[in-house]
Amino acid sequence: MAKKIKEINWDYAPSLESTSHIEVKEKYELFIDGKFVKPSSGNYFNTVNPATNEVLSSIAYANEKDVDNAVKAARKAYNEVWSKLSGKERGKYIYRIARLMQERARELAVIETLDAGKTIRESRDIDIPLACNHFFYYAGWADKLEYAFPNRKVESLGVAGQIIPWNFPLLMAAWKIAPALAAGNTVVLKPAETTSLTAMKLAEIIRDSGLPAGVVNIVTGYGDTGAAIVNHEDINKVAFTGSTAVGKIIQKAIAGTGKKATLELGGKSANIIMDDAPIDQAVEGIINGIFFNQGHVCCAGSRLFVQEGVADVVIKKLKRRMDSLIIGNPLDKNTDVGAINSKEQLDTINKYIKIGINEGAEMYQASCEIPKNGYFCPPTIFTGVAQSSTIAQEEIFGPVLTIQTFRTVDEVIQKANNSPFGLAAGVWSDKGSRVFNLTSKLNAGVVWANTYNKFDPASPFGGFKESGYGREGGMHGLSAYVKLK
Ligand code: ADP
Repeated sequence: MAKKIKEINWDYAPSLESTSHIEVKEKYELFIDGKFVKPSSGNYFNTVNPATNEVLSSIAYANEKDVDNAVKAARKAYNEVWSKLSGKERGKYIYRIARLMQERARELAVIETLDAGKTIRESRDIDIPLACNHFFYYAGWADKLEYAFPNRKVESLGVAGQIIPWNFPLLMAAWKIAPALAAGNTVVLKPAETTSLTAMKLAEIIRDSGLPAGVVNIVTGYGDTGAAIVNHEDINKVAFTGSTAVGKIIQKAIAGTGKKATLELGGKSANIIMDDAPIDQAVEGIINGIFFNQGHVCCAGSRLFVQEGVADVVIKKLKRRMDSLIIGNPLDKNTDVGAINSKEQLDTINKYIKIGINEGAEMYQASCEIPKNGYFCPPTIFTGVAQSSTIAQEEIFGPVLTIQTFRTVDEVIQKANNSPFGLAAGVWSDKGSRVFNLTSKLNAGVVWANTYNKFDPASPFGGFKESGYGREGGMHGLSAYVKLK
């Protein structure tokens, strides 16, 4: 164990978000052609609360036959209804979904927290409002496609197969479904196996919205269900967010098929603190970038670069702030760091922590108490990390931060860009010119200046290199779902 700088005792009375207003059924079926249907295999799998290890519900396991039914329903809805509807009419449906989600925001936030382990603060203040905003934003574009792409003839693609991960379950569903519908496509979506619940709630909302049957179909299952979507011959577009390993499999599978693809994959994003940065804000930005979300963000600021002159003070303040973090029940509004999404993910994170120690880096872990049940990992930093070390190169997807120092701007650009990934980066400096110089030279799809992890439906998001291609969000997100002539 690493040595502690000082024991700090932060006591708060629990402030639990109520669960009395939510309904989680014992079993969830597949949402195909506007109806909830049983999986043809009759198989179900459990979804658990990673903070308590308690089973929340059982979820239908879709096989190739179910995926085929979903794609057929989506094709029929595309040919007979959705592609014939005016943009204005499509927009009305998308607005209606957004409003219904907003009405049920508290329920969605609590279910997201139960199923994913993320803090209620995050699901209530970030995930759910942003998910609603994506529907609102793209509803506005549905009848304005000719302005998004002036002087071009805009056509939809057809049926989109969409596969999403477990880190922002409802938000990722919104990122994928809203632009696809606005541009006139129909959808078959698969949530991640550990976080299907809010997608099934969204299915209920979509049914209640009166959206024509088959326009959105939601099939639950594991990787093989995802593969059945990718490989289905009547899919026109694959939109995937997940690991780089699966992204590569998908890219191979669709090569030569004419299917369009957007892949939003892993990251190992650099968070750069210059010596003239506002230090306290930067320390809060580091915490926000990697610890508030258990490191479960593909763009997490997982590699910290601090200019030598301020390294000692930044690390000292960072350790002190880490010791004040509250880790525990994600439903408690005081909790800063929630549960790791699954046992598998916790095992992966612990494997990397061991590698870091074995590679000779020095570890420090927050002194907060860890709950006994469930899957938790204390915020962890490593100093004395070599550029080539595994923990600085590979995506960990957990609350583990590597810290390196640098002397010059050129050195940090070179170090930050020395990664197979290129999803995001953060720059902290008081000088605009320094910020612009760095942001223009970092190979990252998104660069934040004096902030981190800020999202808006109007701004595009996506990566370079092994972080994938294509953009989601904003007008760029629309272009992924249209053919331009
Ligand atoms: P993570 O490592 O973050 O769990 P994955 O890439 O394994 O990410 O999973 C992201 C999504 O991709 C999940 O919905 C998962 O079920 C799905 N998936 C996994 N393997 C495949 C595959 N071979 N083809 C299509 N989808 C897959």
